Amino acid sequence: MDNLHTSTGQNIRPFADRPGFSFVEQDITVPLDIAAERIYNLACPASPVHYQSDPVRTVKTSVLGTINVLETARKYKSRILQASTSEIYGSPLVHPQPESYWGNVNPIGKRSCYDEGKRCAETLFYDYRRQFEVDIRVARIFNTYGPGMSFNDGRVIGNFILQALSGKDLTLYGDGSHTRSFCYVSDMVSGLINLMESDLCQPVNLGNPLEISMSRLAEEIITLTGSTSGVVYLPLPEDDPQRRNPDITLAKSDLGWTPAVALKAGLAETIRYFKKMAAGA
Ligand code: UDP
Repeated sequence: MDNLHTSTGQNIRPFADRPGFSFVEQDITVPLDIAAERIYNLACPASPVHYQSDPVRTVKTSVLGTINVLETARKYKSRILQASTSEIYGSPLVHPQPESYWGNVNPIGKRSCYDEGKRCAETLFYDYRRQFEVDIRVARIFNTYGPGMSFNDGRVIGNFILQALSGKDLTLYGDGSHTRSFCYVSDMVSGLINLMESDLCQPVNLGNPLEISMSRLAEEIITLTGSTSGVVYLPLPEDDPQRRNPDITLAKSDLGWTPAVALKAGLAETIRYFKKMAAGA
């Protein structure tokens, strides 16, 4: 199910003819009724540009939408996994971030519609578990990238690759010292499936623990694309976390999961994908 708010449906086209596959075009803020054994609730735009463009809708997706999917899970006794986020830690004061950290979140800033929406979604998951015994799993997903990602959603890896490929200067927000930790998409997918099939009901961080500054990321992408681009410094957006790095001790010990794809290899694959898309393939 997808309302195609931030995509065209192109990514699911290869599955369209597979036996057992079906697609419903619907917004999860509209009540739904699906008898599923497993539900992965991945709904909600994740790029700051997208989720801030209609903040009230973002909150509705994470709050009303989450109630709707939890209700259908409750009705059919489905196991349900919430795609939560590292954003629930806000601008963290603890590094790396363990699941026990309660976070440092601005409740009224531009990122709050996403951060507080996702925090409320976690609250709903645990209340549905306590009150109605719904079988829940909660993954806290850190920055993820790879083929299939949106082309123009303003996130850093997409921006830098597009800029490098077109010879434009890479837009570094702030002084380039702020960090993120990027997980390749195939690692994230295996982590989500592992968690879904495990007995772990507490929140679990999923992400790649390699922390990198945005200026270093810009250099990597310029080198990998063989670009002649430079960098240009622009103001840092409001409440942009200075550092983000997952503590994945729990995922390693209890899921036997650890990311396998190195940043260089993942970026090279993503650059290939962007080139193919730019060529209209
Ligand atoms: N960023 C940047 N240049 C860009 C886009 C993003 O320097 O063109 C920075 C942004 O300020 C943030 C980091 O890259 O510190 C990651 O941003 P992104 O929007 O990808 O995701 P976030 O982790 O902030 O949700």
